[in-house]
Amino acid sequence: MHIVIGLIIAFVIVAIFARRNRATRNCRWRADHTGDRGALKKYRCAACGATGFSATGGPPRDCKSQLPKV
Ligand SMILES: [Zn+2]
Repeated sequence: MHIVIGLIIAFVIVAIFARRNRATRNCRWRADHTGDRGALKKYRCAACGATGFSATGGPPRDCKSQLPKV
């Protein structure tokens, strides 16, 4: 019986971590051309509201939501 309880606890922990990783990776970057600066394209995250610049043509890969808010 202890094994079952342990498995349930482990499953919950894994689920929490998986959800947290998904939340940080699935930033929904939207291009904001009004903020473009030359080759730097401005993107705004619809999920956490962060703004980022990218020069590669694609949206930023990282999520800014982990940064402490000033
Ligand atoms: Zn985000």
